[in-house]
Amino acid sequence: MTDTYCLFCKIASGEINADVIYENDYVMAFRDINPQAPTHVLVIPRKHIATINELVDTDQYVAGALHLAAKDIAKQEGIAEDGFRTVMNCNSAAGQTVFHIHLHVLGGRDFSWPPG
Ligand code: AMP
Ligand code: ZN
Repeated sequence: MTDTYCLFCKIASGEINADVIYENDYVMAFRDINPQAPTHVLVIPRKHIATINELVDTDQYVAGALHLAAKDIAKQEGIAEDGFRTVMNCNSAAGQTVFHIHLHVLGGRDFSWPPG
């Protein structure tokens, strides 16, 4: 797996199947294969960006598109009013395991704070 053709790039290109529930020109979203809540969706940019540390100024639109998609997905999944959590892990201390940025959208249960 190379940095420029990672697992989530392969999902974005359709080479690997995923349960896709949302897409537009900039982002797509699919259900997490190992859900941590009744709703657990990952929103990814179509463009490969390994971690938040690699974001550049010209990614401003796509960075915003991830959260706008999360808003639409929360409504679509019926979790917007009760509440939901968005998380983007960065590198090892935060537990990032797939190095193509993804916004976790979690809902359908209560979440504690601070996170583990
Ligand atoms: P993170 O630990 O923040 O990098 O999150 C990576 C997430 O990707 C985990 O929640 C995994 O369960 C999820 N994941 C890994 N492979 C797949 C896949 N093929 N389809 C859907 N989700 C996946
Ligand atoms: Zn990628």
